[in-house]
Amino acid sequence: MVDFAFTPEQRNLYFEVRRFVEEHIVPFEQDPRWTRHGPSEELRSELQALARKAGLLAIHLPPAYGGRGLTHLEQALAFEAAGYSPLGPTALNIMAPDEGNMHLLLAAGDEEQKRSWLLPLARGEIRSCFLMTEPGGAGSDPGLLATVAEPVGSGRYRVRGRKWFITGAEGAALGILMAKVPDHGPTLFLMPMDQPGVRLVRQQETIDGSFTGGHWEVALDGVEVRESWILGALGEGMRYAQLRLAPARLTHCMRWLGGAVRAQEQALAYARKREVFGAPLGSHEGVGFALADNELDLRASRHWIWWVAWLLDRGERARHESSLAKVAVAEALFRVLDRCVQVMGGLGVALETVTARLFLELRAFRIYDGPSEVHRWAIARRLLGRQQPISPFAA
Ligand SMILES: Cc1cc2nc3c(=O)[nH]c(=O)nc-3n(C[C@H](O)[C@H](O)[C@H](O)COP(=O)(O)OP(=O)(O)OC[C@H]3O[C@@H](n4cnc5c(N)ncnc54)[C@H](O)[C@@H]3O)c2cc1C
Repeated sequence: MVDFAFTPEQRNLYFEVRRFVEEHIVPFEQDPRWTRHGPSEELRSELQALARKAGLLAIHLPPAYGGRGLTHLEQALAFEAAGYSPLGPTALNIMAPDEGNMHLLLAAGDEEQKRSWLLPLARGEIRSCFLMTEPGGAGSDPGLLATVAEPVGSGRYRVRGRKWFITGAEGAALGILMAKVPDHGPTLFLMPMDQPGVRLVRQQETIDGSFTGGHWEVALDGVEVRESWILGALGEGMRYAQLRLAPARLTHCMRWLGGAVRAQEQALAYARKREVFGAPLGSHEGVGFALADNELDLRASRHWIWWVAWLLDRGERARHESSLAKVAVAEALFRVLDRCVQVMGGLGVALETVTARLFLELRAFRIYDGPSEVHRWAIARRLLGRQQPISPFAA
């Protein structure tokens, strides 16, 4: 049975996180240490110290890693509340790419890998990045992976290649690297970022700005990696990356839903207060309809998220469904932000408002974790390959 009847404890979880973010994190939104390339390391540490004190750091993880072992549905509540400020997920240590990387380590790491990397990540002592996309190579089509890990004997490999759009590469201690091993195929390696040959080429100027460390082009000039650093299994990199992708897509949706709720609240407040042509702005039908359309998109997004979270909680992989949800939510939330900007007039595009910053974030979200078109293409392929009639019960 599909049941979204949350217990009082689950409802409290939402309000606990939301109160924490409103009271302790929102005031930092004017802090100059929130730069165009995300919150600085110093700001990140300060925010995480507050979350630690409040008992909210990495709450999604199992108790062995200091969390509360939240279900996917409970994560939907907590992550939406955290996303009320673009700095909230960083404070709670549930921001990408660390959150997705922690999930992958939890699912695929051996005990030693978890002890070395997952524990310090969960405590916020280190950061990580995920190195997959390449200039001219892997991107929408991961089959174009060009970075090679060549075996050099004694369980060692030499990696050559170039990556870009690597979020948080600067300052990260761990890189989860996707490279092709000859005769085996794509493989994930847990690569210390201070390994000789890892070179940060340049920080990329992008329109978004909520990820600590920004985004980097990274050269891998003969980096030595070891067999014991393989995450999962040799040649199984794509399969293990999929383990990360479905839940990671959904947690992005959860966090940005919280941001879109915040923007809608700001647009509503502006539409109530501002008077134009002799009446409150919101009473003009064109503005009221925009706010109503936002409500439709916000609720639809939340229901997409809850449904896929519910599937994941049942142990389903939900690849098709998380793909559907990613497109629907990324596009709906972008529409919400676009309308909020319009309702707020000049103020809507002024970066002094969090709405303008969120608008830029939501535009970027239509690209990462699979551009909308790539998801649509995969959805269409699955539909065309399916023979059974359409029914409410077919996957
Ligand atoms: C803010 C941000 C952060 C990122 N962080 C990371 C990171 O930490 N690590 C990492 O590895 N990567 C990261 N990326 C990269 C991201 O995963 C890629 O940008 C994304 O997969 C698209 O790949 P691409 O840029 O190579 O675009 P391309 O592969 O060149 O595709 C360009 C466009 O072509 C269209 N397209 C592609 N295939 C099809 C198709 N079959 N049918 C129809 N249209 C199609 C889509 O509209 C797509 O946007 C990040 C990107 C951004 C914007």
